[in-house]
Amino acid sequence: MRDDDINEFANASGPAARRLGRATLVRHGGKVVTVGGTAPIVVQSMTNTDTADAIGTAIQVKALALAGSELVRITVNNAEAAEAVPAIREQLDRMGIDVPLVGDFHYNGHKLLTDFPACAEALSKYRINPGNVGQGAKRDTQFAQMIELACKYDKPVRIGVNWGSLDQSLLARIMDQNASRAVPWSAQAVMYEALVTSAIENAVRAEEVGLAGDKIILSCKVSGVQDLIAVYRALARRCNYPLHLGLTEAGMGSKGIVASTAALSVLLQEGIGDTIRISLTPEPGGDRTREVLVGQEILQTMGLRKFAPMVIACPGCGRTTSTTFQELAEKIQTYLRQQMQVWKKDYPGVESMNVAVMGCIVNGPGESKHANIGISLPGTGESPAAPVFVDGEKTVTLRGEHIAEEFQAIVADYVRTRYGRQ
Ligand code: SF4
Repeated sequence: MRDDDINEFANASGPAARRLGRATLVRHGGKVVTVGGTAPIVVQSMTNTDTADAIGTAIQVKALALAGSELVRITVNNAEAAEAVPAIREQLDRMGIDVPLVGDFHYNGHKLLTDFPACAEALSKYRINPGNVGQGAKRDTQFAQMIELACKYDKPVRIGVNWGSLDQSLLARIMDQNASRAVPWSAQAVMYEALVTSAIENAVRAEEVGLAGDKIILSCKVSGVQDLIAVYRALARRCNYPLHLGLTEAGMGSKGIVASTAALSVLLQEGIGDTIRISLTPEPGGDRTREVLVGQEILQTMGLRKFAPMVIACPGCGRTTSTTFQELAEKIQTYLRQQMQVWKKDYPGVESMNVAVMGCIVNGPGESKHANIGISLPGTGESPAAPVFVDGEKTVTLRGEHIAEEFQAIVADYVRTRYGRQ
């Protein structure tokens, strides 16, 4: 082995140190979620119910919170929605759900927050899109009005710029500046500059109006992977506000998941990003909580946070005998996620557990030995037996119709013994 080979690997160990920006506290009652600083990267989500439907919205917020969403955003788009917000909060409190609620405002936020003080009070954070607060002279006044309300109610804000609703007057100014350059930038670079400038200038303006710098979170959402990476690298260099990361309009199904993962992984690996939201378009009848799960899985697979035990499963191939293998992997994954609701209270550290479910003898025993618990199912032509490994040692061989149930019982027993309080 050569020395320079060793050095190469020694220098390639894990993500870059997290960009150390300010920390913003988002509170509801006694619950405090810290975004930024050295706090763990926060997973958040957004409802897609009509906020005016207080019961329906409270039910969805509850589902998102139970899935692990640490902040939940709801749209507050009209008087009916603003009126419903305190009822949603009360309903959640009655159900024991203390997740902080974030109000998403566009166009009329200054008016809604003024006319509905109970709404302004019930929300834990306001999202303001500076491209959508008003036109012309009204823009600055209405933006200032929202910031004054945030100060009055002692709420943090996210200044969330989106390239679909970029402040056109600011874009025109940046384009004029560009035209006077000896070598003008590309249209794409001008767009990036406009997004970053909009976020930072509006944050500075919010501080001038009186909002403390540690009550401001920034985001600059775009829908292209390379665009998002370029914009957030610049944003991270040019300010120290906490950054909310997300690809807007990521899309549906695997496209949305892949695009979000590709963009966020690059930035997270560089230490950029304090809170994430995965903007998936749900399939008809699909489960909104999927976006929470995907966010958690991005962070966990990158080794940045741990949320639930991980199932390591091989992809299966021509050696896999039947669907038994896929069914077992699916059953175990679902079981572990469901059990986490209970386990996380009683079994600290259980979220670090790895469970391997493998399809045959080729990699099965090897991978199973590396996991906390592993099972290697029989492949084609192999004897119908499934050896189970616990902490690297083969403990039992399962056979017959009830392998899934028996394996599940072994996992439950392991959790009790290994993670139970002494
Ligand atoms: S462990 Fe066996 S079944 Fe799974 S992918 Fe490898 S060879 Fe195929």
